[in-house]
Amino acid sequence: MITVIRPGTKEEQIDSLIHWFREQGLDVHISKGEVHTVLGIIGDTAKVDTDLLEGLEMVEMVQRVSDPFKKANRKFHPEDSVIDCGGVKIGGGHFAIMAGPCSVESEEQITLVANEVKKAGATILRGGAFKPRTSPYDFQGLKAEGIELLLEAKKQTGMPIITEIMNANHLPLFEKVDVIQVGARNMQNFELLKELGRTNKPVLLKRGLANSLKELLMSAEYIMAGGNENIMLCERGIRTFETYTRNTLDLSAVPVLKELTHLPVIIDPSHATGKASLVPSMAVAAVAAGADGLMIEVHNDPKKALCDGAQSLTPAQFEKLAKRVEKIRTALED
Ligand code: PEP
Ligand code: MN
Repeated sequence: MITVIRPGTKEEQIDSLIHWFREQGLDVHISKGEVHTVLGIIGDTAKVDTDLLEGLEMVEMVQRVSDPFKKANRKFHPEDSVIDCGGVKIGGGHFAIMAGPCSVESEEQITLVANEVKKAGATILRGGAFKPRTSPYDFQGLKAEGIELLLEAKKQTGMPIITEIMNANHLPLFEKVDVIQVGARNMQNFELLKELGRTNKPVLLKRGLANSLKELLMSAEYIMAGGNENIMLCERGIRTFETYTRNTLDLSAVPVLKELTHLPVIIDPSHATGKASLVPSMAVAAVAAGADGLMIEVHNDPKKALCDGAQSLTPAQFEKLAKRVEKIRTALED
């Protein structure tokens, strides 16, 4: 349920209303906008007397929210959330490109790619250390050493880093990581999500291969219910009958999620298409659709990449893409 407070209401009055809700065992999520304060009431609100509430001078509107996701719901928090990713803001008009290799392979590789993507305009460095591979015989990532190498690249370039977590027991290794990625395969690993809810780290939550947008929002809700509201959502393609592309990029996810939630929306055209030649078109389309950021795989030598070489751009291709993205962004501002 949401309660919209009339503009100009005194803080003490709002506090006493919050107290009244809490006395009834309800959780209150407060969202202060430029004009309105919105109270999101979570819990068994059936017992709340809405007629009484609506009769209060300070209350402009009361609305029951039937969606099962509350904290992620735009009705609870009308303004866009802005997530601070180690100094780089995303959301609410702040746009960022996360770029880097699928996997961290060596110190030379990650520092070279980090410098190249930074020069081209990326502001966050990506790189997998723990890799969720379909085959147990494929390269599984450099694990803890991979994170150390990312931190070294961060030191050299000043770029915040994002890397994927697969197991909550690994959390201590992520202490200095700026953004934790939850991959598509773990979107519904609820125990992992609950653990991340107990941290205050920004989390990039990727949509599962066969999950609906509502399920993605419920997974975000798991993290937020634990107290961590620093969440970004990522569409990275879903399974369909189409086989030409690795997955099918559901670009409508951008406007749909923008309607449903205040959380930033990132598009990953690399995993969505699986083909480097298709990545730039889908990246600019995502920006035109209103995405708050992009995640792009870039490798210094894609043919020799230990993972996802076919979808990785070279630094030169990435530079070209970043310029096209900038043009689209400028065009949209006019
Ligand atoms: C990745 O970003 O390297 C990755 C494995 O992505 P996804 O979970 O979207 O497949
Ligand atoms: Mn990859």
